Amino acid sequence: THPVDASDLEPVDKSALKVSDQVAIEIIDMNKWYGQFHVLRDINLTVRRGERIVIAGPSGSGKSTLIRCINRLEEHQKGKIIVDGVELTSDLKNIDKVRSEVGMVFQHFNLFPHLTILENCTLAPIWVRKVPKKEAEETAMHYLRKVKIPEQALKYPGQLSGGQQQRVAIARSLCMKPRIMLFDEPTSALDPEMIKEVLDTMIELAEEGMTMLCVTHEMGFAQAVANRVIFMDQGQIVEQNEPREFFNNPRNERTKLFLSQIL
Ligand code: ADP
Ligand code: MG
Repeated sequence: THPVDASDLEPVDKSALKVSDQVAIEIIDMNKWYGQFHVLRDINLTVRRGERIVIAGPSGSGKSTLIRCINRLEEHQKGKIIVDGVELTSDLKNIDKVRSEVGMVFQHFNLFPHLTILENCTLAPIWVRKVPKKEAEETAMHYLRKVKIPEQALKYPGQLSGGQQQRVAIARSLCMKPRIMLFDEPTSALDPEMIKEVLDTMIELAEEGMTMLCVTHEMGFAQAVANRVIFMDQGQIVEQNEPREFFNNPRNERTKLFLSQIL
């Protein structure tokens, strides 16, 4: 069922993938409820700069909620989330600061359909960052070249394939110069032949040292790029390990069951 094998992806230069000692994200005893429903339980997670973490787990285990808490699209009720040294509280200044450092790419690309690709990429830099239009356009073209679709700049999202739209979504995030990128199933809505082009874009980002948290079912990508795989079930981090150990020697019964179903 898995269209992309690790060997299909652009070869990864592992020596280029460095993890620093600096902490990018720290989550301490974090809990979240949706009303009465205890969706995240005692989450502890330290992410260092340059880490590439894949978050796996069954549907409904809380993966999206966890990464949405990291840029405060969702609010947690207990414990701490500290991003780049800034604690996420109800203080709007802190929330703005964290959001400006953290880019997010969703399953459904969430591009503005009535704006061109270029306008999608320059909107936030111009209106949020107050970047002059010409400079914002130059930056946008730089990232559109990086995701290999500069020639689409003046088209509208509806004129692009799903894989191209997702690469625009990645470029649009990068235009805000984030230090951390969160991906929530970025390839789940794509046809098989388009998955690889998006994963290859993500690999390039990893090779440039981006700190990345990726919720994905693409285990080939996890094997090729992640330095750590986290397995969630029922709102908890049940197991985590470096990819080879995680796939070859899972310890937890729930991890074993999950892997037997998807590999
Ligand atoms: P995953 O991404 O692992 O599939 P989610 O984080 O989306 O899991 O959801 C975890 C659980 O929380 C699921 O049981 C889901 O139904 C529930 N949930 C998600 N969002 C909400 C919400 N806004 N209100 C209430 N329950 C929610
Ligand atoms: Mg989800």
